[in-house]
Amino acid sequence: MTRIRVRLDALRDRSYTVEIRPGILAEVPLLLSRSEGKRRMFVITDSNVTRYYGRALNSKLAAAGCEVTVLDVPAGERSKGSPTVNFLYTKVFRGGIRRDSLIIALGGGVIGDLAGYIAATVLRGVRLVQIPTTLLAQVDSSVGGKVGIDHPAGKNLIGAFHQPSAVYIDPEALLTLPPDEFRNGFAEVIKIAAALDAPFFANIERNAQRIRRENTALNAKILETAVALKASVVEKDERETGLRRVLNLGHTIGHALESSGGFALKHGQAVAIGMAVEARISRELGLLGASDCQRLTAMLEAADLPVTPPRSINERAFMSAIALDKKSDVSGTRFVLLRRIGECAPGVPVPADLIRKTMGLVSKKSTHG
Ligand code: ADP
Ligand code: ZN
Repeated sequence: MTRIRVRLDALRDRSYTVEIRPGILAEVPLLLSRSEGKRRMFVITDSNVTRYYGRALNSKLAAAGCEVTVLDVPAGERSKGSPTVNFLYTKVFRGGIRRDSLIIALGGGVIGDLAGYIAATVLRGVRLVQIPTTLLAQVDSSVGGKVGIDHPAGKNLIGAFHQPSAVYIDPEALLTLPPDEFRNGFAEVIKIAAALDAPFFANIERNAQRIRRENTALNAKILETAVALKASVVEKDERETGLRRVLNLGHTIGHALESSGGFALKHGQAVAIGMAVEARISRELGLLGASDCQRLTAMLEAADLPVTPPRSINERAFMSAIALDKKSDVSGTRFVLLRRIGECAPGVPVPADLIRKTMGLVSKKSTHG
């Protein structure tokens, strides 16, 4: 079993443990009944995950003597908005939630963000346990305390920092995950490796042929390394004022592709294309060598992820989405670029023409001179 400690704040200790182990999902009821037994518990999950894992968790928690209510919302990004938030507020108030109650997020990134947002806001904040069941949520969104919901103006525009009090990661939960969702999450694994750790990147390169959801032992190892890297970044920069920005590698282009394309692309696909394009930008700016640029693209392709933007892209919508990026400030949009595999160059301004060129939005001819 692997325990990773996320150490935060000397003043008011909000440190927590991330436990990663195949089969841990079956033990969570006992662990929670021991550590949180007297608290009223609300499990927030979605319509798919409840069938696979929610019902079993509910009955085991009840059998362990916990007072628990399961609330499920329709699967999918559409649940990450204010109608669902209001529905959940009503349910938890009717269920008698108090300041010492516990919210358990059981599901993918959508559920982690949504249930986390409820936990951050209801009664000015109650405790949160994250049980991520998609690779994306296990490797990225369940650790670090970013919670939030979407607004018609854009994804994740409303939110808070609300750290969990524990995270339980079961690599066996990936066995039921649709393969497409597994690939989607693997984009974030590649991101963490490319942004932070060259040996880890070399390791996933070597194992490229063995990457799939059924490979529980390999996935457990990958999760241990990736989560430890993410935890160390979060410890140093909880509120994303500096270092944590490197985790946005691929996301400036990726988010703009998602929002300008009406969210037809999955997040991981958009981030994969974003990393490939941002590697080309890094190369054009003389930051990144040709061979590292090629390695990143090859790794994404080996994980069955796209590396070129869809042809249908609307240039105007895309370029205005870039300008509206959450990371923009008075001086414009700043990119996280790459210096080499494992090392980022954050905060680099990129000329609009270079974005168009590396996105293939203008023909090669017209960019001469
Ligand atoms: P993400 O984690 O990529 O943000 P979601 O939370 O929307 O995305 O989860 C993606 C899809 O996978 C949803 O339809 C969800 O119900 C489903 N899902 C989540 N975890 C599992 C699992 N372990 N097994 C099967 N399906 C799952
Ligand atoms: Zn992401």
